[in-house]
Amino acid sequence: MSTRTESDETYLDWAASTPMRPEALQAMVQAARDGYGNPTGAHHRARVGRRIVDDARDQVADAMGAEPSEIIFCGSGTEADNLAIFGAHFTNGGAVACSAVEHHAVLHPVEHLGGAVIGVHPDGQIDLDQLRAVANDGLAVVSVMLANNETGVVQRLHEIRGILDEYAPNALLHTDAVQAFPWLDVAELAAPADLISLSGHKFGGPKGVGVLVVRSHADIKAQTLGGGQEFELRSGTHNVAGIAAFGAAAHIMTLERAQIVEQVGARRDRLVAGIKQILPDAIESARDNLNGGQTAVEKVAGSAHICFPGIESEALLFKLERLGIYASAASSCASGAQDPSHVLAAMGYPRELAAGSLRMSLGFGTTDADIDRALSIIPECVQTLRTVSV
Ligand code: PLP
Repeated sequence: MSTRTESDETYLDWAASTPMRPEALQAMVQAARDGYGNPTGAHHRARVGRRIVDDARDQVADAMGAEPSEIIFCGSGTEADNLAIFGAHFTNGGAVACSAVEHHAVLHPVEHLGGAVIGVHPDGQIDLDQLRAVANDGLAVVSVMLANNETGVVQRLHEIRGILDEYAPNALLHTDAVQAFPWLDVAELAAPADLISLSGHKFGGPKGVGVLVVRSHADIKAQTLGGGQEFELRSGTHNVAGIAAFGAAAHIMTLERAQIVEQVGARRDRLVAGIKQILPDAIESARDNLNGGQTAVEKVAGSAHICFPGIESEALLFKLERLGIYASAASSCASGAQDPSHVLAAMGYPRELAAGSLRMSLGFGTTDADIDRALSIIPECVQTLRTVSV
């Protein structure tokens, strides 16, 4: 058993999951203690549970600029994405489509339904000509994430909506805003979307609670049938404590977001600049063109994603882990296996370069000391690996 403590660790994997905010933990414990009645029941204890769920629904609605009746609590970001795609498709059998850089929680449902996968440019932005080519009257839903979980690239949903309005006015626009919510004013930037997915554990809330915002005009079919909870869209007894924590985390995140973005963005910039100063051939994904020069693409403030030519990220992650630095390569997945990144492949990165990618993701608890430590360890580990592999 390792004797390492949290103070010896540098956690740079906030895009995979975050610690819970104290406010969220407190709300969770209190709801678990007081809200044990089944929220669908009629007696006092049931009403206590229902009130907790309703209060959290109000908090999320406020954070999203939505009506409370548009907030559908479910079991994860993955479930929210699945409900959006399958729910739109099964309403009237229409076609589905998504961008090639989506999380597998969107990509796999779209592929399962034989949908279209729309390519992206080397800077990670969706190819709007390809979108125009698939947009027609038979389209039920298009899913384009607001911020990417590997590169942090932000998509311009207003432009995408404009194209749908012109070529596929009946199609719903779904956005996976799971990685965007901690960093961006999602209420504003995702306003063009009809369906919006969130996940609690990416912003200081609990694991195993997600939300799908379903705008009142959007017609989708439930995928989980039973007791008719969540306005008949997601049956199943509510996770009252988890929902309370989700609401508390969403509330505090919205209040503090601007300040966090400023602080974390400065730390991210120092980390990336510091690494590139020592290793000038390091490539910051999406920002550095593969043929030289830079793009002005927008990325979320917590994302530092770099490709190191000439190394394997698995070897680097192994070394870093032994030194107490936790990061990742492609997005985390259940098996823990590092498959080559479909995101970098879609952006045209050669396999050898993508094989040396490192996703460092920062969050509201990242400190200057974390960045100092990362800068004193990561470039040296890369250099060591290069010496070993020549
Ligand atoms: N969508 C994106 C962009 C993600 O990054 C993740 C998690 O990594 C998910 C969906 C899935 O969310 P959850 O872990 O709550 O199932």
